[in-house]
Amino acid sequence: MAGAFWCIVEDDRQGSPKKVMAEVLGEATRLAAQAGGQVEAVWLTDKSTPEGVKQLGELGAKRVWLLENAAFAPYRGEVWTPVIADLAAKESPSAILAPVTTRQREMMARLAARLGAGLSADSTALGLEDGKLVATRPVYAGKLLSKVTWSKTPWLATLRPNVFRPAEPQTGASPQLERPAVSVPSEAMKLVERKEETSTGLPELAEAEIVVSGGRGLKGPENFVILEELAKVVGAAVGASRAAVDAGWRPHRFQIGQTGRTISPKLYMGFGISGAIQHLAGMRTSKVICAINKDPEAPIFKIADYGIVGDLFEVAPLLTAEFKKLLEK
Ligand SMILES: Cc1cc2nc3c(=O)[nH]c(=O)nc-3n(C[C@H](O)[C@H](O)[C@H](O)COP(=O)(O)OP(=O)(O)OC[C@H]3O[C@@H](n4cnc5c(N)ncnc54)[C@H](O)[C@@H]3O)c2cc1C
Repeated sequence: MAGAFWCIVEDDRQGSPKKVMAEVLGEATRLAAQAGGQVEAVWLTDKSTPEGVKQLGELGAKRVWLLENAAFAPYRGEVWTPVIADLAAKESPSAILAPVTTRQREMMARLAARLGAGLSADSTALGLEDGKLVATRPVYAGKLLSKVTWSKTPWLATLRPNVFRPAEPQTGASPQLERPAVSVPSEAMKLVERKEETSTGLPELAEAEIVVSGGRGLKGPENFVILEELAKVVGAAVGASRAAVDAGWRPHRFQIGQTGRTISPKLYMGFGISGAIQHLAGMRTSKVICAINKDPEAPIFKIADYGIVGDLFEVAPLLTAEFKKLLEK
Protein backbone atom coordinates (compact mmCIF):
# COMPACT_ATOMS: atom_id res chain seq x y z
CA MET A 1 0.00 0.00 0.00
CA ALA A 2 1.36 3.42 -0.94
CA GLY A 3 2.32 5.36 2.18
CA ALA A 4 2.79 2.19 4.23
CA PHE A 5 5.48 1.70 6.87
CA TRP A 6 7.07 -1.63 6.07
CA CYS A 7 8.86 -3.70 8.67
CA ILE A 8 11.17 -6.41 7.34
CA VAL A 9 10.79 -9.42 9.59
CA GLU A 10 13.74 -10.97 11.39
CA ASP A 11 12.68 -14.42 12.49
CA ASP A 12 14.11 -17.20 14.60
CA ARG A 13 14.37 -19.56 11.57
CA GLN A 14 11.63 -21.64 13.22
CA GLY A 15 8.68 -19.62 11.99
CA SER A 16 8.35 -16.91 14.64
CA PRO A 17 9.37 -13.26 14.60
CA LYS A 18 12.26 -12.40 16.91
CA LYS A 19 11.65 -10.33 20.02
CA VAL A 20 13.26 -7.28 18.39
CA MET A 21 10.34 -7.11 15.94
CA ALA A 22 8.16 -5.77 18.76
CA GLU A 23 10.44 -2.73 18.80
CA VAL A 24 10.45 -2.23 15.02
CA LEU A 25 6.68 -2.69 14.75
CA GLY A 26 6.10 -0.49 17.81
CA GLU A 27 8.12 2.34 16.29
CA ALA A 28 6.47 1.90 12.88
CA THR A 29 3.05 2.08 14.55
CA ARG A 30 3.96 5.32 16.31
CA LEU A 31 5.26 6.89 13.08
CA ALA A 32 2.44 5.60 10.90
CA ALA A 33 -0.14 7.04 13.32
CA GLN A 34 1.43 10.48 12.86
CA ALA A 35 1.96 10.16 9.13
CA GLY A 36 -1.44 8.60 8.41
CA GLY A 37 0.05 5.40 6.96
CA GLN A 38 -0.43 1.72 7.66
CA VAL A 39 2.05 -0.68 9.26
CA GLU A 40 2.84 -3.73 7.16
CA ALA A 41 5.25 -6.61 7.76
CA VAL A 42 7.28 -8.15 4.95
CA TRP A 43 8.37 -11.66 5.81
CA LEU A 44 10.76 -13.67 3.68
CA THR A 45 11.07 -17.18 4.97
CA ASP A 46 11.26 -20.80 3.97
CA LYS A 47 9.00 -21.74 6.86
CA SER A 48 6.27 -19.51 8.26
CA THR A 49 3.77 -20.49 10.91
CA PRO A 50 0.22 -19.22 11.47
CA GLU A 51 1.32 -18.24 15.01
CA GLY A 52 4.15 -16.15 13.54
CA VAL A 53 1.72 -14.29 11.27
CA LYS A 54 -0.66 -13.81 14.20
CA GLN A 55 2.14 -12.42 16.34
CA LEU A 56 3.02 -9.85 13.67
CA GLY A 57 -0.63 -8.76 13.62
CA GLU A 58 -0.77 -8.51 17.38
CA LEU A 59 2.35 -6.37 17.33
CA GLY A 60 0.74 -3.87 14.96
CA ALA A 61 1.06 -5.12 11.37
CA LYS A 62 -2.24 -4.52 9.57
CA ARG A 63 -1.02 -6.51 6.61
CA VAL A 64 1.61 -9.24 6.32
CA TRP A 65 3.32 -9.78 3.00
CA LEU A 66 4.35 -13.40 3.29
CA LEU A 67 7.02 -14.39 0.79
CA GLU A 68 7.58 -18.05 1.46
CA ASN A 69 10.01 -20.05 -0.61
CA ALA A 70 12.64 -22.69 0.08
CA ALA A 71 15.16 -20.44 -1.69
CA PHE A 72 15.00 -17.87 1.12
CA ALA A 73 16.97 -20.07 3.50
CA PRO A 74 19.76 -19.83 4.20
CA TYR A 75 19.79 -16.05 3.81
CA ARG A 76 21.59 -14.76 0.75
CA GLY A 77 21.45 -11.06 0.02
CA GLU A 78 21.39 -11.56 -3.73
CA VAL A 79 18.23 -13.68 -3.44
CA TRP A 80 16.32 -11.60 -0.89
CA THR A 81 17.06 -8.11 -2.15
CA PRO A 82 15.53 -8.19 -5.67
CA VAL A 83 12.37 -9.81 -4.30
CA ILE A 84 11.82 -7.04 -1.76
CA ALA A 85 12.87 -4.38 -4.27
CA ASP A 86 10.31 -5.62 -6.82
CA LEU A 87 7.54 -5.59 -4.24
CA ALA A 88 8.57 -2.11 -3.07
CA ALA A 89 8.52 -0.86 -6.66
CA LYS A 90 4.94 -2.12 -7.01
CA GLU A 91 3.65 -1.03 -3.61
CA SER A 92 5.57 2.23 -3.04
CA PRO A 93 5.85 2.14 0.76
CA SER A 94 6.88 5.38 2.50
CA ALA A 95 9.35 3.66 4.78
CA ILE A 96 11.17 0.35 5.05
CA LEU A 97 12.39 -0.42 8.55
CA ALA A 98 14.37 -3.40 9.84
CA PRO A 99 16.23 -4.30 13.01
CA VAL A 100 20.03 -4.21 13.10
CA THR A 101 20.88 -7.88 12.75
CA THR A 102 23.66 -9.48 10.77
CA ARG A 103 21.53 -10.27 7.76
CA GLN A 104 19.19 -7.25 7.80
CA ARG A 105 22.13 -4.93 8.06
CA GLU A 106 23.52 -6.32 4.80
CA MET A 107 20.18 -6.71 3.04
CA MET A 108 19.05 -3.14 3.79
CA ALA A 109 22.27 -1.69 2.36
CA ARG A 110 21.77 -3.74 -0.81
CA LEU A 111 18.11 -2.72 -0.96
CA ALA A 112 18.93 0.97 -0.62
CA ALA A 113 21.43 0.69 -3.46
CA ARG A 114 18.93 -1.16 -5.62
CA LEU A 115 16.12 1.33 -4.98
CA GLY A 116 18.42 4.33 -5.26
CA ALA A 117 17.17 5.33 -1.82
CA GLY A 118 18.86 6.55 1.35
CA LEU A 119 19.53 4.36 4.39
CA SER A 120 20.00 5.46 7.97
CA ALA A 121 21.91 2.54 9.45
CA ASP A 122 21.85 1.78 13.17
CA SER A 123 19.27 4.48 13.98
CA THR A 124 18.70 5.24 17.65
CA ALA A 125 15.71 7.59 17.21
CA LEU A 126 13.16 8.29 14.50
CA GLY A 127 10.68 11.13 14.15
CA LEU A 128 8.66 13.03 11.60
CA GLU A 129 9.44 16.62 10.78
CA ASP A 130 7.33 18.45 8.21
CA GLY A 131 5.96 15.10 7.09
CA LYS A 132 9.40 13.64 6.48
CA LEU A 133 11.25 10.98 8.43
CA VAL A 134 14.25 12.20 10.41
CA ALA A 135 16.64 9.69 11.98
CA THR A 136 19.25 10.03 14.67
CA ARG A 137 22.31 7.83 14.39
CA PRO A 138 25.63 7.69 16.21
CA VAL A 139 28.75 8.59 14.21
CA TYR A 140 32.48 8.64 14.99
CA ALA A 141 32.24 5.53 17.16
CA GLY A 142 29.31 7.02 19.05
CA LYS A 143 31.05 10.28 19.98
CA LEU A 144 28.51 12.34 18.05
CA LEU A 145 24.88 11.91 17.12
CA SER A 146 23.90 12.99 13.64
CA LYS A 147 20.41 13.74 12.39
CA VAL A 148 19.69 12.68 8.85
CA THR A 149 16.72 12.88 6.53
CA TRP A 150 15.89 11.63 3.07
CA SER A 151 15.52 13.47 -0.22
CA LYS A 152 12.93 10.96 -1.44
CA THR A 153 10.94 7.90 -0.40
CA PRO A 154 11.18 5.13 0.52
CA TRP A 155 12.94 6.03 3.73
CA LEU A 156 15.12 3.06 4.70
CA ALA A 157 16.36 2.66 8.24
CA THR A 158 17.75 -0.06 10.45
CA LEU A 159 16.88 0.25 14.14
CA ARG A 160 19.29 -0.52 16.96
CA PRO A 161 17.86 -3.23 19.24
CA ASN A 162 16.78 -2.38 22.79
CA VAL A 163 16.43 1.34 22.04
CA PHE A 164 12.87 1.68 20.71
CA ARG A 165 9.78 1.09 22.83
CA PRO A 166 8.28 -2.32 22.01
CA ALA A 167 4.68 -2.56 20.83
CA GLU A 168 2.10 -3.65 23.37
CA PRO A 169 0.63 -6.83 21.82
CA GLN A 170 -3.04 -6.39 20.87
CA THR A 171 -4.37 -9.87 21.57
CA GLY A 172 -6.60 -11.17 18.83
CA ALA A 173 -5.66 -8.56 16.20
CA SER A 174 -5.37 -10.40 12.92
CA PRO A 175 -3.55 -9.01 9.90
CA GLN A 176 -4.57 -9.21 6.28
CA LEU A 177 -2.35 -11.89 4.75
CA GLU A 178 -0.93 -11.43 1.25
CA ARG A 179 1.05 -14.09 -0.53
CA PRO A 180 2.27 -12.34 -3.68
CA ALA A 181 3.75 -14.44 -6.45
CA VAL A 182 7.47 -13.89 -6.51
CA SER A 183 10.09 -14.68 -9.05
CA VAL A 184 13.06 -15.86 -7.09
CA PRO A 185 16.38 -14.92 -8.67
CA SER A 186 18.92 -17.64 -9.12
CA GLU A 187 21.57 -17.71 -6.47
CA ALA A 188 25.14 -16.70 -7.11
CA MET A 189 26.36 -18.45 -3.97
CA LYS A 190 25.75 -22.06 -3.01
CA LEU A 191 25.69 -23.37 0.52
CA VAL A 192 28.66 -25.64 0.97
CA GLU A 193 28.49 -26.47 4.64
CA ARG A 194 26.33 -25.44 7.55
CA LYS A 195 27.69 -25.45 11.09
CA GLU A 196 25.14 -24.88 13.81
CA GLU A 197 26.37 -22.71 16.63
CA THR A 198 26.13 -24.49 19.94
CA SER A 199 23.67 -22.66 22.12
CA THR A 200 25.04 -21.19 25.31
CA GLY A 201 21.59 -21.41 26.89
CA LEU A 202 21.93 -17.69 27.62
CA PRO A 203 20.04 -14.88 25.85
CA GLU A 204 21.32 -13.63 22.51
CA LEU A 205 23.83 -10.81 22.84
CA ALA A 206 22.07 -8.15 20.75
CA GLU A 207 18.67 -8.83 22.31
CA ALA A 208 19.64 -9.33 25.93
CA GLU A 209 18.41 -6.86 28.53
CA ILE A 210 21.51 -7.51 30.64
CA VAL A 211 25.01 -8.09 29.25
CA VAL A 212 28.00 -9.23 31.26
CA SER A 213 31.18 -8.65 29.32
CA GLY A 214 34.77 -9.74 29.83
CA GLY A 215 38.09 -8.40 28.61
CA ARG A 216 41.78 -9.10 28.79
CA GLY A 217 41.55 -8.76 32.56
CA LEU A 218 39.99 -12.24 32.64
CA LYS A 219 43.46 -13.62 31.88
CA GLY A 220 42.27 -16.71 30.00
CA PRO A 221 39.30 -18.44 28.35
CA GLU A 222 38.70 -20.74 31.31
CA ASN A 223 37.83 -17.76 33.50
CA PHE A 224 34.79 -16.79 31.44
CA VAL A 225 32.95 -19.39 33.49
CA ILE A 226 32.93 -16.82 36.32
CA LEU A 227 30.94 -14.46 34.11
CA GLU A 228 28.70 -17.25 32.81
CA GLU A 229 27.73 -18.08 36.39
CA LEU A 230 26.78 -14.48 37.04
CA ALA A 231 24.96 -14.34 33.69
CA LYS A 232 22.89 -17.42 34.52
CA VAL A 233 21.76 -15.86 37.80
CA VAL A 234 20.70 -12.52 36.31
CA GLY A 235 19.56 -13.82 32.90
CA ALA A 236 22.29 -12.05 30.95
CA ALA A 237 24.21 -12.66 27.74
CA VAL A 238 27.99 -12.85 27.92
CA GLY A 239 30.00 -10.59 25.62
CA ALA A 240 33.70 -9.85 25.22
CA SER A 241 36.17 -7.18 24.21
CA ARG A 242 38.22 -7.56 21.07
CA ALA A 243 41.32 -8.31 23.12
CA ALA A 244 39.54 -11.37 24.53
CA VAL A 245 38.27 -12.39 21.09
CA ASP A 246 41.61 -11.86 19.37
CA ALA A 247 43.24 -14.00 22.02
CA GLY A 248 40.86 -16.79 20.98
CA TRP A 249 39.02 -16.83 24.32
CA ARG A 250 35.58 -16.19 22.80
CA PRO A 251 34.21 -16.55 19.25
CA HIS A 252 33.90 -13.33 17.26
CA ARG A 253 30.09 -13.34 17.46
CA PHE A 254 30.44 -12.33 21.11
CA GLN A 255 32.63 -9.30 20.42
CA ILE A 256 31.18 -5.93 21.40
CA GLY A 257 32.40 -2.80 19.68
CA GLN A 258 33.16 -1.04 16.46
CA THR A 259 34.19 -4.23 14.68
CA GLY A 260 31.79 -6.44 16.62
CA ARG A 261 28.20 -6.20 17.83
CA THR A 262 26.42 -3.05 18.90
CA ILE A 263 24.35 -3.57 22.00
CA SER A 264 22.04 -1.37 24.03
CA PRO A 265 20.96 -3.41 27.06
CA LYS A 266 19.28 -2.07 30.18
CA LEU A 267 22.39 -3.05 32.13
CA TYR A 268 25.95 -3.58 30.88
CA MET A 269 28.57 -4.93 33.28
CA GLY A 270 32.17 -4.83 32.04
CA PHE A 271 34.78 -6.94 33.85
CA GLY A 272 38.48 -6.32 33.17
CA ILE A 273 37.75 -4.10 30.18
CA SER A 274 39.70 -0.85 29.90
CA GLY A 275 37.10 1.06 27.86
CA ALA A 276 38.88 1.74 24.56
CA ILE A 277 36.91 3.99 22.20
CA GLN A 278 36.31 1.06 19.83
CA HIS A 279 34.72 -0.96 22.63
CA LEU A 280 32.61 1.97 23.80
CA ALA A 281 31.28 2.33 20.24
CA GLY A 282 29.42 -0.93 20.74
CA MET A 283 27.93 -0.40 24.19
CA ARG A 284 27.81 3.27 25.15
CA THR A 285 24.05 3.52 24.56
CA SER A 286 23.44 0.93 27.31
CA LYS A 287 20.99 2.40 29.84
CA VAL A 288 23.12 1.63 32.92
CA ILE A 289 26.84 0.90 32.70
CA CYS A 290 28.69 -0.79 35.51
CA ALA A 291 32.48 -1.27 35.27
CA ILE A 292 34.67 -3.52 37.36
CA ASN A 293 38.37 -2.81 36.97
CA LYS A 294 41.34 -2.88 39.29
CA ASP A 295 42.75 0.30 37.75
CA PRO A 296 40.94 3.40 39.07
CA GLU A 297 42.20 5.34 36.02
CA ALA A 298 40.65 2.94 33.48
CA PRO A 299 38.80 5.03 30.85
CA ILE A 300 35.65 2.94 31.18
CA PHE A 301 34.95 4.65 34.51
CA LYS A 302 34.42 7.93 32.62
CA ILE A 303 31.20 6.62 31.06
CA ALA A 304 30.19 4.21 33.85
CA ASP A 305 27.15 4.92 36.02
CA TYR A 306 28.57 2.58 38.66
CA GLY A 307 32.20 1.64 39.10
CA ILE A 308 33.86 -0.94 41.29
CA VAL A 309 37.61 -0.60 41.68
CA GLY A 310 38.71 -4.09 42.53
CA ASP A 311 39.90 -7.48 41.39
CA LEU A 312 37.24 -9.04 39.18
CA PHE A 313 38.14 -12.51 40.49
CA GLU A 314 36.90 -11.37 43.90
CA VAL A 315 34.12 -9.04 42.80
CA ALA A 316 32.35 -11.26 40.24
CA PRO A 317 31.68 -14.22 42.61
CA LEU A 318 30.50 -11.78 45.30
CA LEU A 319 28.07 -10.16 42.86
CA THR A 320 26.84 -13.58 41.75
CA ALA A 321 26.19 -14.62 45.35
CA GLU A 322 24.42 -11.34 46.19
CA PHE A 323 22.23 -11.38 43.06
CA LYS A 324 21.36 -15.00 43.80
CA LYS A 325 20.20 -14.07 47.30
CA LEU A 326 18.19 -11.10 46.05
CA LEU A 327 16.59 -12.85 43.11
CA GLU A 328 15.73 -16.01 45.01
CA LYS A 329 13.75 -14.03 47.56
C1 LIG B 1 40.22 -0.61 14.04
C2 LIG B 1 40.03 -1.15 15.42
C3 LIG B 1 38.82 -1.75 15.74
C4 LIG B 1 38.62 -2.24 17.04
N1 LIG B 1 37.41 -2.80 17.35
C5 LIG B 1 37.18 -3.20 18.61
C6 LIG B 1 35.92 -3.75 19.00
O1 LIG B 1 35.00 -3.91 18.20
N2 LIG B 1 35.75 -4.10 20.30
C7 LIG B 1 36.74 -3.96 21.24
O2 LIG B 1 36.49 -4.31 22.40
N3 LIG B 1 37.92 -3.47 20.89
C8 LIG B 1 38.20 -3.11 19.62
N4 LIG B 1 39.44 -2.66 19.28
C9 LIG B 1 40.53 -2.82 20.26
C10 LIG B 1 40.56 -1.75 21.31
O3 LIG B 1 41.32 -0.64 20.86
C11 LIG B 1 41.22 -2.29 22.61
O4 LIG B 1 42.50 -2.78 22.29
C12 LIG B 1 40.42 -3.40 23.27
O5 LIG B 1 39.08 -3.01 23.43
C13 LIG B 1 41.04 -3.70 24.64
O6 LIG B 1 40.38 -4.76 25.23
P1 LIG B 1 40.36 -4.91 26.81
O7 LIG B 1 39.74 -3.71 27.42
O8 LIG B 1 39.80 -6.24 27.12
O9 LIG B 1 41.93 -5.01 27.14
P2 LIG B 1 42.88 -3.98 27.84
O10 LIG B 1 42.84 -2.65 27.21
O11 LIG B 1 44.20 -4.66 27.94
O12 LIG B 1 42.27 -3.81 29.30
C14 LIG B 1 42.26 -4.81 30.25
C15 LIG B 1 41.75 -4.18 31.53
O13 LIG B 1 41.60 -5.18 32.51
C16 LIG B 1 41.95 -4.62 33.77
N5 LIG B 1 42.27 -5.76 34.64
C17 LIG B 1 43.35 -6.59 34.55
N6 LIG B 1 43.28 -7.53 35.51
C18 LIG B 1 42.16 -7.27 36.24
C19 LIG B 1 41.55 -7.87 37.37
N7 LIG B 1 42.08 -8.97 37.93
N8 LIG B 1 40.42 -7.33 37.85
C20 LIG B 1 39.88 -6.22 37.31
N9 LIG B 1 40.41 -5.60 36.22
C21 LIG B 1 41.53 -6.12 35.70
C22 LIG B 1 43.10 -3.68 33.45
O14 LIG B 1 43.22 -2.71 34.45
C23 LIG B 1 42.68 -3.12 32.12
O15 LIG B 1 41.98 -1.90 32.26
C24 LIG B 1 39.67 -2.16 18.00
C25 LIG B 1 40.87 -1.55 17.67
C26 LIG B 1 41.05 -1.06 16.40
C27 LIG B 1 42.36 -0.38 16.05
